[in-house]
Amino acid sequence: MSIVVVGSVAYDTIETERGGVTDALGGSAAYFALAARFFAPVSMVAAVGTDFRAADDRLFAERSIDVRGLERCDGATMRWHGRYHEDMNRRDTLNLSLNVFADFAPTLLPDQQRADYVFLGNISPELQERVLGQIIKPKVVAADTMNHWIEGDRPGLVRLLSRIDILTLNDEEARMLSGEHNLVRAGRAIQKMGPGTVLVKRGEYGVLQFGRDSMFAVPAYPLEEVADPTGAGDTFAGGFMGYLARHGRMDEVMLRTAVVYGSVLASFVVERFALERLIGLSWEEIDQRYRAFIELTDSRHPRWMSQ
Ligand code: AMP
Repeated sequence: MSIVVVGSVAYDTIETERGGVTDALGGSAAYFALAARFFAPVSMVAAVGTDFRAADDRLFAERSIDVRGLERCDGATMRWHGRYHEDMNRRDTLNLSLNVFADFAPTLLPDQQRADYVFLGNISPELQERVLGQIIKPKVVAADTMNHWIEGDRPGLVRLLSRIDILTLNDEEARMLSGEHNLVRAGRAIQKMGPGTVLVKRGEYGVLQFGRDSMFAVPAYPLEEVADPTGAGDTFAGGFMGYLARHGRMDEVMLRTAVVYGSVLASFVVERFALERLIGLSWEEIDQRYRAFIELTDSRHPRWMSQ
């Protein structure tokens, strides 16, 4: 089943201890789509400016991502500039210019309106709601958000939460949204605001999933070197939603497996800057790391049982 994603498409300037890039293709919808495409057809809804590079349009299209909803508007493509602290878990936003996203009001194509799976990627709650309002009968609606929107439009975000099934956000944002410092209390408090499933992303410490009456935790895949954590959350969401859309079910086993696939995809994107690693990724690499991931967390893995 296909997925419609709305979110940012941006040119990012990124600085980490390992180096940096200037005006690299990024944005929540870009990371999401390039991860989810391994599992299900993806259709984007986003705005880009007249400066958007034709090669970047092709990059999506060549990977079977539907870009009919990538609207070219008068003005500049969104810009984001972030700098990571030494530990790579924290970052400062040095600049955010929404540009063409400031008053983007998309009209979805008829086939997008019939989507079963919807991902409302990190962008203003107003735009997320506008897109959701056009989907006729969605089966699963997931959303992501960020401190910028929790602080800037809490009422809009709270309204959206009552209409979605799944929310992904990082630990700091979960605390900010719920007013609870303890993450278990924060997750449970956010569930009460609407979404039956809440996924708290904890950077290199992994993901904590809250279900109706369950909890599930996975670590991040341990890597010797992380170049750039940008987009790890959106890439996680792409693998997670992609897996759900491919299988068309949302029971506990499916949700848990989806969290593992999301974590596998996220472990690749951080190995290089911006989208570089996702662009060249193959299904064989994903499959291999999925097996390594299972071995990492299974104390009774068959490989070691016969010894
Ligand atoms: P993540 O590291 O998962 O938070 O995703 C980073 C991506 O989100 C970058 O490619 C940015 O272009 C984009 N981004 C940063 N701030 C915002 C924002 N306030 N709204 C939408 N997208 C953003």
